[in-house]
Amino acid sequence: MDMQAVLDRIHDEAQPLLGQGRVASYIPELAKVPLQRFGMAVSMLDGRLYTVGDAREDFSIQSVSKLFSLTLAFQLVGDALWERVGREPSGTAFNSLVQLETEQGKPRNPFLNAGALVVTDVLSTRFVQPEMALVEFLRRLSGNAGLQYDDAVARSELATGSRNRAMGHFMHSFGNLKNPVDAVIEAYCRHCAIRMNCVDLARAVGFLANGGVSPVGGEQVLDASSAKRLSALMLTCGTYDAAGDFAYRVGIPAKSGVGGGIVAHIPRTLGVCVWSPRLEHTGNSLAGSFALERFTSLIGQSLF
Ligand code: GLN
Repeated sequence: MDMQAVLDRIHDEAQPLLGQGRVASYIPELAKVPLQRFGMAVSMLDGRLYTVGDAREDFSIQSVSKLFSLTLAFQLVGDALWERVGREPSGTAFNSLVQLETEQGKPRNPFLNAGALVVTDVLSTRFVQPEMALVEFLRRLSGNAGLQYDDAVARSELATGSRNRAMGHFMHSFGNLKNPVDAVIEAYCRHCAIRMNCVDLARAVGFLANGGVSPVGGEQVLDASSAKRLSALMLTCGTYDAAGDFAYRVGIPAKSGVGGGIVAHIPRTLGVCVWSPRLEHTGNSLAGSFALERFTSLIGQSLF
């Protein structure tokens, strides 16, 4: 199979979609990104890299960060995490509050905003600077020592993040946030504001395809069983309320963000990232979802 030809074809097929969908404007700074963008990168576990379009242009990773903050927290506390966060799809939007009350402040899964706040709370207990702990982790996983978070995006979300703050205080009232809510929210917004590109993320997700070992630096990030479990969570909960449809159409574990990025992997084979800023109604990149669907169809590989 000619992987480059596959990416070139997907790039062509995606062009008519680039004008469709909307960017996330509830974080004002995110609405400023250039719209007509499409990039995709595939990083094979043996190190071969394939790219197309704007694969080296940085974007705001937003909820893609939740995958990596979860990994760090899971390294620290393991299964004890599940006493504070569930592992079920929510059937609600990523920023919904409704289940938190009936479920006593325990978020359904770590990829909802509420779940990621609990994860960030775990990191805040362990690290003096939880935001830099995640940045440094991603530098190692991607091999890009220059990664940083974008302070303007973080401040823009902090200025408008009443809903996340509400969730934080609500969970605090149940004892499910241990650190001061404002500090947790600040670290969370900085995690979301990390800037990376498709190449960085395709490499960074490789450890999940590779039995927990980073193909970039050789670091044993998780044991193989934990890598399998986090990948299962990506499949069932990684693309918000579209996870069922995504599994149906694409068939591989994925995590998306409202910056328009989606990372995914094919176990034992490759890491992949696609980026296009305009989103469909559940908050996943519209062209990005299409691209991954075409990708698994054209290469004839998925989980199934
Ligand atoms: N920072 C965003 C928020 O908290 C992330 C959401 C997302 O990417 N789904 O709302």
